[in-house]
Amino acid sequence: MPVYNFNAGPAVLPRPVLEQARAELLDYQGRGMSILEMSHRSPEYEAINASAEARFKSLLGLGDDYRVLFMQGGASTQFALLPMNFLPPGAVADYIVTGAWGEKAAEEARRVGQVHVAATTAGGGFRGVPQPAEIHLSERPAYVHLTSNETIQGVQWAALPDLGDAPLVADMSSDILSRPFDVARFALIYAGAQKNIGPAGVTAVLVRESFLAQARSDQPAILRYTTFARNNSLYNTPPVFAIYMLDLVLAWIAAQGGLEGMAERNRRKAALVYNAIDRSAGFYRGHAEPASRSLMNVTFRLPEEQLERQFVAEAQTAGMVGLAGHRSVGGIRASLYNALEEASCVALAAFMDEFLRRHG
Ligand SMILES: *Cc1c(COP(=O)(O)O)cnc(C)c1O
Repeated sequence: MPVYNFNAGPAVLPRPVLEQARAELLDYQGRGMSILEMSHRSPEYEAINASAEARFKSLLGLGDDYRVLFMQGGASTQFALLPMNFLPPGAVADYIVTGAWGEKAAEEARRVGQVHVAATTAGGGFRGVPQPAEIHLSERPAYVHLTSNETIQGVQWAALPDLGDAPLVADMSSDILSRPFDVARFALIYAGAQKNIGPAGVTAVLVRESFLAQARSDQPAILRYTTFARNNSLYNTPPVFAIYMLDLVLAWIAAQGGLEGMAERNRRKAALVYNAIDRSAGFYRGHAEPASRSLMNVTFRLPEEQLERQFVAEAQTAGMVGLAGHRSVGGIRASLYNALEEASCVALAAFMDEFLRRHG
């Protein structure tokens, strides 16, 4: 029996996508073999690669001045590749740190070059995003990096900040394609697929051509964005099955009304869970400030750790999995990515009310 899957990543995938993948698994489009067994140079795979790129562009309204790349190594590899390609000696990269992933990104960039922390909300325990006046950019940053949604703390930018002319880079691993946003403001966006748009194994990168043109050319070929761009992400063997799944997920998102459809659905889902927190009279305490609450990862505490363990165990018995908070912050985390059905949030909210009645 399917469960209510609140896993933080890898995470729930759309049921119709899994069903299509199962139906096509042994015989892809009448070729008598699985897509898993085909060359990445085959016309079948090239069509998938092109389709995934085209669907990405169409969902985001990207023009020809952007490239869509499919890379490997997860967002964690992007933490290193970004400065290796775009932070030349003598330059400074600015980081706005609103949680654990932004901290890691900055830490990795420090191994490559000079980093300026333009703002951090670490002092407040990563409960919100900085006010515009709290962001102090360096003179001429090579780029400004932010994390649109901090998956571990459950802190999301409600609106992405206007930072002037500096090339803006975002780690959107946990909220990409969950809502409309102005892509044109970004020089580069990266996202591991395994939260909102597919299985683990592929990392989507959207990059503006003019920014790409500034990339260093002295890094090993496999570590350069330009290598992927020149070869349409087919320089070496790509994770073909992950990209095939990603393509199916993008088609599913389009069929749900695109980013507007996702945003509406995601707002409704998150409201169900946040409302359960807010009507609990302090029994459930949300981690994020209300203005920075994530629509993707709802993080909250209970009065005692013992109760939190009990909550997770009883929820599991009721068919809800993946609710334990990240080991670094504890408590509860409900991840409500694109593919999670509203019924899961209805079930969780009802369970929260009932748990409160018994233990409040
Ligand atoms: C999950 C996550 C990462 C790390 O992704 P990997 O694919 O495990 O490297 C980085 N940033 C954010 C925002 C994430 O949610």
